[in-house]
Amino acid sequence: MTQIPYRDLRVRDPALKAELLAAVDQVLSHGRLLLGPEHDTLEATLAAQCGRRFGVGVGSGSDALFLGLRALGIGPGDEVITTALSWIATANAIVMTGATPVFVDVRDDFNLDPDRVEAAITPRTRALLPVHYTGQMCAMAPLLDQCARHGLSLVEDAAQAFGAQWQGHVAGSLGRIACFSMNPMKILGAYGEAGMILTDEPALRDKLHCLRYNGTVNKEDCHIPSLNGRLDTLQAAMLLVNLRHLPERIRERRRIAALYDAELAGVVATPPVGAEQFHTYYSYTIVHERRDALKAFLLEHGVETKIQHPIPLPHHTAYRHRFAAEIPVAARLASQLLCLPNQEGLQDDEIAYICRLVRQFVAG
Ligand SMILES: *Cc1c(COP(=O)(O)O)cnc(C)c1O
Repeated sequence: MTQIPYRDLRVRDPALKAELLAAVDQVLSHGRLLLGPEHDTLEATLAAQCGRRFGVGVGSGSDALFLGLRALGIGPGDEVITTALSWIATANAIVMTGATPVFVDVRDDFNLDPDRVEAAITPRTRALLPVHYTGQMCAMAPLLDQCARHGLSLVEDAAQAFGAQWQGHVAGSLGRIACFSMNPMKILGAYGEAGMILTDEPALRDKLHCLRYNGTVNKEDCHIPSLNGRLDTLQAAMLLVNLRHLPERIRERRRIAALYDAELAGVVATPPVGAEQFHTYYSYTIVHERRDALKAFLLEHGVETKIQHPIPLPHHTAYRHRFAAEIPVAARLASQLLCLPNQEGLQDDEIAYICRLVRQFVAG
């Protein structure tokens, strides 16, 4: 029986493996394991690719969000408006600063509903934290406008959206702070944990340098209590290799998505993709009322899928008694969404097989 994993994180391509091992070899030879030359190159390269002045490497996307919010001075008494549909790291970052998350519902494209954002703004609101979910950017015009009108900071959670574009603006190019995760599942993935913050402001960069290393200045005197959230040189070196291969990966993701779109049109719902969007398909997601049965059916036939993510943020155990939120769309989508395999290297006949199964399930 066909066995199609959702993601296979092994490095199968011998040429890629050789490039990665050469990058590792280089780092082991120079021995600058933290904040080494490849780390600095990665910071500069990702910043340049997104048209930003500064990159600050951090240990993960979670670190990026938490330290990014702290660099903006967000803390107790402040409110941060964010989406109801994301990985829990988005909410945790806000709560761990001491600020209050205000969860706003999404639209059918899985992204923040700008009209509901407007209604959620209060005198305590300090920042908007949109997530470019599944690799498609939010409709940014209203969010940028709201930030300008109300004096709010825009913090992009671009963890799922490296390379995505809205109206020609790449993800990470618009926020006062932009946060990336390069964990191995992400489209630009490391071989362990990794994250990056982008900004144009020297003062924020300096504060982030301090915050990512126990709040120290010159690595000695602690000015602000913080954690150790640095990105190591080995991961940076391997990320530079993967960055070279990213355009072909994105092309592949988009090719796979186009095949699914063609085969599944009228069979299952998929989130709308705006004409102004360049979607990079961190995940290819379908929506179906009998999602759990469909998932089980596909697995019986050798196809692994993933529910990314099954619990809306305000419904997690840690939050459901703390923060009231009206999020009917996010709650429905979280109960109906299913991510199909879409890793580069997936063959046309495998995609056809998966689509045949989906059609069979829906018809039956
Ligand atoms: C992955 C992810 C994060 C957290 O990144 P880590 O590197 O896993 O800490 C944050 N937000 C979103 C939307 C993510 O998908």
